[in-house]
Amino acid sequence: NPELARAESLIRSIPDYPQPGILFRDITPLLADARALHATTEALVEPFAGSFDVVAGVEARGFILAGAAAITAGVGFVPIRKAGKLPQPAAAVDYALEYGTATIEMHDDLPAGTRILLIDDVLATGGTLAAGRTVIESLGYTVAGISVLFEIEGLGGRDVIGDLHTVFRSS
Ligand code: 5GP
Repeated sequence: NPELARAESLIRSIPDYPQPGILFRDITPLLADARALHATTEALVEPFAGSFDVVAGVEARGFILAGAAAITAGVGFVPIRKAGKLPQPAAAVDYALEYGTATIEMHDDLPAGTRILLIDDVLATGGTLAAGRTVIESLGYTVAGISVLFEIEGLGGRDVIGDLHTVFRSS
């Protein structure tokens, strides 16, 4: 798909950000491009067509593509947020960061058994998406799939998450 190849070329690698030794994948040039945003959003949801009822994303970068994907798929969007940001959290999950821990929370306004497509921009160690999956399942919802724009290989994310769809990967 030439549109996807073009979109991939708009992902920029920034050395030593946010810390020395980290090669940061910056997707903002892709997001700013109408054709690239459209093609990648379609590629995120296409393998899961008809198999999910709603899209979820983890704050903050996950909101961007998950929101776009919800519009593309014609379904709603549900936020999974950092602790303290949602007014009526029904479940919370702690997960490890490189330094310390974080907590994510989710509401339970969906019917039991709702099928949720979980989307994020970048898969690194997999900690964020694993926590997202845990909080979804803890509320009795089903993870219909996990879809990621860019997979950084070699950081173990795929081992943590198992089955997932990635549009682009690092090697
Ligand atoms: P993980 O939990 O898989 O280690 O890290 C993934 C989370 O951190 C994602 O939510 C993603 O937004 C962010 N992240 C980690 N590395 C990068 C990167 O190189 N580029 C971008 N854009 N986000 C990253």
